[in-house]
Amino acid sequence: MKILLSCLMLTLLLLPPAALGEAADMPEWEYPLAPEILENKAGFITLVNRQHLLDSDYAPQDLTVINVRCVSSIRGDMLRKTALDAMRRMFEAADADGMTLYLKSVYRPYSTQSYMYKNRLSKVGRDDGVVAYPGSSDHQTGLGADILNLEWTRKDGMTPAFGQTAEAQWMDAHCAEFGFIIRYMEDKEEITGIIYEPWHLRYVGKEAARYIMDHHLSLEEFDEEWHAYIADWEARGGDFSALLRQRAIPTPAEVLFITEEGEEEVSLFH
Ligand SMILES: [Zn+2]
Repeated sequence: MKILLSCLMLTLLLLPPAALGEAADMPEWEYPLAPEILENKAGFITLVNRQHLLDSDYAPQDLTVINVRCVSSIRGDMLRKTALDAMRRMFEAADADGMTLYLKSVYRPYSTQSYMYKNRLSKVGRDDGVVAYPGSSDHQTGLGADILNLEWTRKDGMTPAFGQTAEAQWMDAHCAEFGFIIRYMEDKEEITGIIYEPWHLRYVGKEAARYIMDHHLSLEEFDEEWHAYIADWEARGGDFSALLRQRAIPTPAEVLFITEEGEEEVSLFH
């Protein structure tokens, strides 16, 4: 016990004085998602659209070659690892429910998007919204993917009619369980600037996906909502960076100790 108490005292001594003081002064965090999710360290909730462009040299660091069922033209293409792992679990769950999904398009570098955009411009003579402006594509994040059923992989193009298929409806109902959202929803076209794309899923992480899908939000609306929450919370005396620092410090009850035998780990207050 003596060794445990001295560890606790050491822990308290090591806490920066500011971290202890800040706790009392800040208003309660009441947003339904944890501050760490909104900190967006991994970029999972990053909004990318015509107003929020990615740099031409932006490429995710953890791209991994896809290892789920896909159309042959994208073999060797990549997704960010976390999104890919989640995708594999989603495909397995879909299989179990008798839904056979196919990846049609995954990570797309800026250069490819730029080439496709210029091609479309010269073909139709104007930006008709079919090919995303370079830097505005969700595919450049490495977290967005187009997913179809077998029948639709054989069609020339994709249309909102895909939404009526059993596979699209399954994805709409279950994607959030794996951390995905329907990025371009049917009644959000004016907000997203993109037509309804029941095939385009975007990884945002499980908690954010559950929240976004339950509240039927576009990523644009979600982005605006949580930024507004932080702005309001800070106007009431909160300090978001300080809150994150504070939460990163384990509370005494969470600190694990090594006993004198050096083997067993125990938590002080359990
Ligand atoms: Zn897409």
